[in-house]
Amino acid sequence: MATQTETKNNSFILAGEKSVKFEDRPIPSISDPHDVLLQVNYTGICGSDIHYWQHGRIGHYVVKDPMVLGHESSGTVVAVGDQVTTLKKGDRVAMEPGVCCRRCVRCKEGLYNLCLDMKFAATPPYDGTLAKYYVLPEDFCYRLPDHVSLQEGALMEPLAVAVHITKQSRIRNGDSVVVFGAGPVGLLCCAVAKSFGASKVIAVDIQQPRLDFAKEFAATGVFMPEKVSSQENAERMVKEHDLGLGADVAIDASGAEPSVQTAMHVLRNGGSYVQGGMGRDECTFPIMVACLKELKISGSFRYSEGDYRDAVQLVGSGKIDVKKLITREVAFEEAEQAFEDIKAGKGIKVLIGGPK
Ligand SMILES: [Zn+2]
Ligand SMILES: [Zn+2]
Repeated sequence: MATQTETKNNSFILAGEKSVKFEDRPIPSISDPHDVLLQVNYTGICGSDIHYWQHGRIGHYVVKDPMVLGHESSGTVVAVGDQVTTLKKGDRVAMEPGVCCRRCVRCKEGLYNLCLDMKFAATPPYDGTLAKYYVLPEDFCYRLPDHVSLQEGALMEPLAVAVHITKQSRIRNGDSVVVFGAGPVGLLCCAVAKSFGASKVIAVDIQQPRLDFAKEFAATGVFMPEKVSSQENAERMVKEHDLGLGADVAIDASGAEPSVQTAMHVLRNGGSYVQGGMGRDECTFPIMVACLKELKISGSFRYSEGDYRDAVQLVGSGKIDVKKLITREVAFEEAEQAFEDIKAGKGIKVLIGGPK
């Protein structure tokens, strides 16, 4: 039996609603010859981690047994399976935290984020990455260029989410884009849209400090909605930002009902809308506007083929500086305090260092 002082695989665990603890768990083993064993270096805290911690569930995903939290991680390879050809011990990687079945129709289409047999870190019943060690197949690990830090590596997860959302919008060079919600994913959507050639990127939020940050980070303009109808807000946005007949693309990264409504009104005829934010299960939105404008409406969930690769490329080429989103780093032992801070809205991204 392990003694209290001996730590093999120190893990940060959600024990139940609003209750977290550290626990020494067995080191995961390489069971498939294509797997690699990673030592986790940094993990960012995500809204979904906070949600599981506070409510014990997200939709139909219910935490029944204690579960390791975390899924936005970078790590270093410590061991490789017999068949691994692309990675070696010591390689620094961004860790894609959801492994699909590889056999179903959606997987074969390349839409593996829609696989019904997805094993995703920190989505019950699967353990997350806030542990010393984690095992992944080699093709779910993305080697970081030498000049990209492990801290930046932990930001590849939300960036891959933003890449996927922005691709769903079918954005074209020169398009005007409105992004609702200036949290981490919204901010990254602004940056991705810009790198994909957007001529205007308007960030919308109800908190001025977030708008100030968005302006400095990637948005070309910002908009603070007023307590008027969504149509009036949309009209003012078009006027203030010279959007002509309306925006070409609108992305929701807020999940808020007024954002969804305003987006429908701010788009031009034939414009494109992507739902990336997760808010309430149902909302009222002007479906007639969507019909008459012939809007192209898409959902977006996690990431799929090519998204992580593109995220690493965008950071490696210097097109997107994710370092600016890192508010601070804390030691593994301070994980709970870091969760409290993010819940209280302090900072954009807090990174938790891996156990030493
Ligand atoms: Zn996340
Ligand atoms: Zn599948």
